[in-house]
Amino acid sequence: MPRSQFGSTLRAALTVLAVVTGCTQSASTSSSPPSSAASGSPSHSAEASAVGPRAGSLVIVGRIVTMDEPPVAEALLIEDGAVAAVGTRDEVLALAGDRAPIIDIGQNVAYPGFIDAHSHWIGDRNVYGAESAAEAMDAALSRGWTSISEQWVNPEKLDELTALAAEDALPLRVDTYLALNEPAPSGAHLGDWYADRDPGPVTDRLRVRGLKITLDNGWGTIFHWEPAELTDTIGRANEAGWQVSVHTVSTEAHEMVLDAYEAALGPTGPNPLHHRIDHAIQVTDEQLARMVAMDVATVIHLDGAATDWVLEAEYLDHLGPENPGEEVGWLARWRDFVDAGLHVAAATDTPWIYPGLALTDTVGRPVDQIAGGMDGRGLSSKETPDWVLLQLLTAEQGLAAVTVDAAWAIGDEAKRGRLAVGTYGDVTILSRDVIAGSADEIRSTNVVATIVGGEIVLCADTALCP
Ligand SMILES: [Zn+2]
Repeated sequence: MPRSQFGSTLRAALTVLAVVTGCTQSASTSSSPPSSAASGSPSHSAEASAVGPRAGSLVIVGRIVTMDEPPVAEALLIEDGAVAAVGTRDEVLALAGDRAPIIDIGQNVAYPGFIDAHSHWIGDRNVYGAESAAEAMDAALSRGWTSISEQWVNPEKLDELTALAAEDALPLRVDTYLALNEPAPSGAHLGDWYADRDPGPVTDRLRVRGLKITLDNGWGTIFHWEPAELTDTIGRANEAGWQVSVHTVSTEAHEMVLDAYEAALGPTGPNPLHHRIDHAIQVTDEQLARMVAMDVATVIHLDGAATDWVLEAEYLDHLGPENPGEEVGWLARWRDFVDAGLHVAAATDTPWIYPGLALTDTVGRPVDQIAGGMDGRGLSSKETPDWVLLQLLTAEQGLAAVTVDAAWAIGDEAKRGRLAVGTYGDVTILSRDVIAGSADEIRSTNVVATIVGGEIVLCADTALCP
């Protein structure tokens, strides 16, 4: 679609975006599970814990990328919803006996279930035309997500999600971030309406995880919070154990949120609740250093946002008359974030970044994040600017951004983002290895099956699935 049309769509989208950022705190205190030794002895938990009524048991045989040790395994046993063993085919099959059905994935490749750390799949489904929450969740599952983070959840949206959880009608895991203010243009504050509850799991599929603050608008030109009230609000949330996720675009906004985090955490952290900065579009070197010092989680969008969003004339104009050169170097610093050691999650922000706000078959997928990180291709813009090309990621880095680092961004790295004994039995099976090949080859990958807690919730190849 034409740039101008995209711009207005994006502007409308970002208006909503500005209201929707939130964050949660992980209630999980479990330590990292033991990893299987190089000896080939499979990891096994003697007491696989039940995680809920939907928990399933399954053996998966084939190429399994664990994002843990060993990096690749031949077989995986999921019992009662959790990973009970990772190892060689013979070992895992011997251990499993006939307790669980077996799927042999052939030439396909299994990954830890992908985590969309910032999205509006359910809450803003009307924007992209899904008619029900179930349809919205199916759209996410069919693209390979096993966890979605719903940003900007107000009381009404929380009621809906809680009801769905009570009906056992959440086929994937949902993490909610409760909204503390409206998006642009009003930015109206909603008060500490979260204060009568604690963050944590509602069921094994639904967590009330964090709080979402929209600090500036999509262009970073309007601020919805005064510095002192932002600091006070984040301080109260931190005291009460809530993770905070802040929609932050401009350098001015980054300065404000980093000051607020510093007041809560101290200049060098640590950051046990994983407070995060979402979007992180325009960041100076000094601000990046502060993010690293406090270990602030960063959530970005690799599937075209840098090229489409930041290239908007209105955005570039905001950089100021003295601009461009040096300041352009502050934009969309994916590679700088990763190289600096930040936990960088890549998220869809469904549907707000898609041209025309349309959820087509080739947007909104984990593979779009991985591929977009590799070539910086925009969805609307024809050319990728040089400063994006300087920030490209490898496929491995993109994969980490939708698995282990996405899990960190939602504060559940002990249970999600990798496959090891004790993690959830959440698995996405893809038609190819997304570590190999060009960005476009990765974009041509198909989702073969999506498994949540050992239960096959989506299967595109019925010959494969039991
Ligand atoms: Zn958003």
